[in-house]
Amino acid sequence: MKTYLLPCGCGRELAVTPADAGGESSCPGCGRTVPVPKLRDLGKLREAVPVVTKRSSRWSAGHTAILVGLLLAATSGLLSLVFRTQTPPPTADVHDIERQMQATSYVNAYGNWATELRHRPIAPPLTPEELAYRNAEAVNATWRRRFTYAAAAALALALTGLLAVVLRRAAEGRAGAAR
Ligand SMILES: [Zn+2]
Repeated sequence: MKTYLLPCGCGRELAVTPADAGGESSCPGCGRTVPVPKLRDLGKLREAVPVVTKRSSRWSAGHTAILVGLLLAATSGLLSLVFRTQTPPPTADVHDIERQMQATSYVNAYGNWATELRHRPIAPPLTPEELAYRNAEAVNATWRRRFTYAAAAALALALTGLLAVVLRRAAEGRAGAAR
C-alpha cells in the first residue's frame, strides 16, 4: 500500500495511506487533528519514498559456486601435493666406478665393451630401483597434473561465483539508489 505525506500546519508531515482517506489523522508533533483528503485527491500529496536499505542476503548460485569452487580447489590442491615420488638413493658411486676401472686391465675393459656395452644404448641399464622410480613418477605426474587442472577449474568456478555475487550486489545497489 502506498504511503503519502500529509503536511501539518506545524511543518511536520504525517504518513497517511489510502485506508485513512476521507478521515482524520492526528499529528504526533503538535497533536492537531488534520483532515485526510479523499481518495481521489490523495494522489496529489507527495508520496513517501520507502526506505529500502536492506540488501538481499539470499543464498544465490554465485555463493554456491564460490563455496563449491573453493572446496574443490583446496581438495584438488592438497591431492596434487600427495602424489610425490620418493627419489631412490643414487646407485652409481663415482669413486666406486673409478676403483673398478683401475682394477680392470685394458684387455678386460675392451672385452666387456666389445661383447656387452656396445650392443646397448649409451645409457646404462636401469636398476630395479630406478625403474620403479620412473614408473611411479610417471603415474604420480599424471595425477599431479590432473589435480592441478581440477584445482584451476575449481578456482575459476569460485571466481565466476564471486563475480556473479559482486555484479548482483552492484545491480541491487543501483536499484536501491534509483528508488
Ligand atoms: Zn502538527
